[in-house]
Amino acid sequence: MFCPKCGDAMTATRDGTTLECVRGNMELSVAMRAGLVEIFVERRRSAKRVGHRFGGEWFCPGCGGPMIVDDGVQCPRCSEHLDELVYQLVELHPHRVRRRLLVVEERFEIAGRGLVLMPGVPAGEATRSELSVELLRPDGTTAVVRAHVEITFAVPLPKERWATVRLEGVTKADLPIGTELWLDEG
Ligand SMILES: [Zn+2]
Ligand SMILES: [Zn+2]
Repeated sequence: MFCPKCGDAMTATRDGTTLECVRGNMELSVAMRAGLVEIFVERRRSAKRVGHRFGGEWFCPGCGGPMIVDDGVQCPRCSEHLDELVYQLVELHPHRVRRRLLVVEERFEIAGRGLVLMPGVPAGEATRSELSVELLRPDGTTAVVRAHVEITFAVPLPKERWATVRLEGVTKADLPIGTELWLDEG
């Protein structure tokens, strides 16, 4: 089964009682899992239509593809609806939102200040100057580190302004090229 909020394949929880989306850190309630399996995996019944306009972005638990969201939430391939379960998914199933900030192409050691990364990020995305980011290295290992986002000033001002990302307490050996920086957004 696929996560209705991001489309990733879901996996059994450690105790085996239900399923979870690892990316979203979201565990399905036992009732939610049963409902989704009945409708999208076993195809034993269809979801009740609720009859109002829906919003948001949804993925089909049966095939993982994006669903069509209007006066229902429907998979164009399986043609099943999610409608009756949307409310519970919104209210009782928070899904962590993560965004990939950048992929490291080069890094420079600055004495006493950590590593400055290439590329930077567009200045418009630099909403906070200090962030907690997760490193995902090419070998699959992870680490959480502090990042400083610093807008660099240049004269004349370039059309598109970039911010520099600097990591504290990290050495080049900790940060192979190709490492991804991920940011939690909720
Ligand atoms: Zn998910
Ligand atoms: Zn589908």
